[in-house]
Amino acid sequence: MSVVKDSATNLLGLAQPELEAFVAALGEPKFRARQLMHWIYKRGVSDVALMTDLSKSLRERLLEIAVIAPPEIIHEHVSSDGTRKWLLRAEGAPGTAVREQAIEMVFIPEPGRGTLCISSQVGCALDCSFCSTGAQGFNRNLASHEIVGQVWLAGQRLAGGGERAVSNVVLMGMGEPLANYRNVLPALSLFMDDHGFDLSRRRVTLSTSGLVPQIYRLAEDTNVALAVSLHAPNDALRDQLVPINRKHPIAELLAACWHYLDKQNGRSITFEYVMLEDVNDQPEQARELARLLAGRDAKVNLIPFNSFPGTRYRCSPAPVIDRFLGELRERAITATVRRTRGADIDAACGQLAGRVADRTTVRLGRKLLPLVVQS
Ligand code: SAH
Ligand code: SF4
Repeated sequence: MSVVKDSATNLLGLAQPELEAFVAALGEPKFRARQLMHWIYKRGVSDVALMTDLSKSLRERLLEIAVIAPPEIIHEHVSSDGTRKWLLRAEGAPGTAVREQAIEMVFIPEPGRGTLCISSQVGCALDCSFCSTGAQGFNRNLASHEIVGQVWLAGQRLAGGGERAVSNVVLMGMGEPLANYRNVLPALSLFMDDHGFDLSRRRVTLSTSGLVPQIYRLAEDTNVALAVSLHAPNDALRDQLVPINRKHPIAELLAACWHYLDKQNGRSITFEYVMLEDVNDQPEQARELARLLAGRDAKVNLIPFNSFPGTRYRCSPAPVIDRFLGELRERAITATVRRTRGADIDAACGQLAGRVADRTTVRLGRKLLPLVVQS
């Protein structure tokens, strides 16, 4: 494991333009950035000394001022269904007493693809009432190199293991990616860059609980697939489940979604809907949901609620989920039910708890505090 030198630049956090600026500042031509990216992302090499097509003097300089260091693994769990979960070390926020935090990352192998679910923050401030990350509160945003480093690390861990490499990346782990916009954006660009991970935009999905201004910004800055955590068909209920709804209600959120779609031409948005028994799972609620989405390029993904200690919710029974699904389909809404994977290692959605201590922010649901949104 590399020891990160104080003040060294972690090259995993630099998208191509920033890496070009970095090498230019060392008096090197731009194409050195692409050479570096080839070593880092195509060959998985983190030791600059091995990058033999760079001049010796550049290698020596890089060894002094740069590192290529992914997050450190604390634990790796493998589920009976092949799902893997990693607990990764993340330093505590500067100036806070607790030094060590942890985030989680999950790999889900499926026929024809391998999906990596990554984290964007240590904890989350948005306090959705059914989410175990939310229950932990928020400590800090992940840096770009920690977001990119997760995908790089998974590539290393999975290579040679007889498993499929990462073909899809979803920002559905810990944290609200749009509340860490500044650091998430360069990571998205590296995921899709030909010289980076070279994933098509359809294979990179950002999931948000509905930060409306950032959805408009995202429409200008990128074209990743968007998933939106709706979870309720009306504001009265969504206010309780997803507290950010009190700031950005459903009509505003959907307007931002349709704007995003207009900018993407021909894509659809996935609306995530967690199935909570006797809370949001009734046929009338399915009909209300269908009315919201009618005629739009929208898909609904019903997520069976994943329980965690201390929660007041239960997952809807399978026949109730089927009925809900049927109501949507009868109204020509494309809908699917997400299969739960990695349940034996708590690797499912919303169960990524990591270790969040020394919270720097009071959770949103308690008081509608100004959000910690980096722009
Ligand atoms: N903050 C972002 C992305 C991370 S959460 C967001 O909220 O969209 C990823 C998905 O897991 C979201 O749809 C979220 O609502 C869902 N989720 C959270 N807790 C869950 C739980 N206990 N069971 C099932 N899904 C859950
Ligand atoms: Fe945060 Fe998403 Fe969990 Fe809500 S569901 S608390 S936004 S991680």
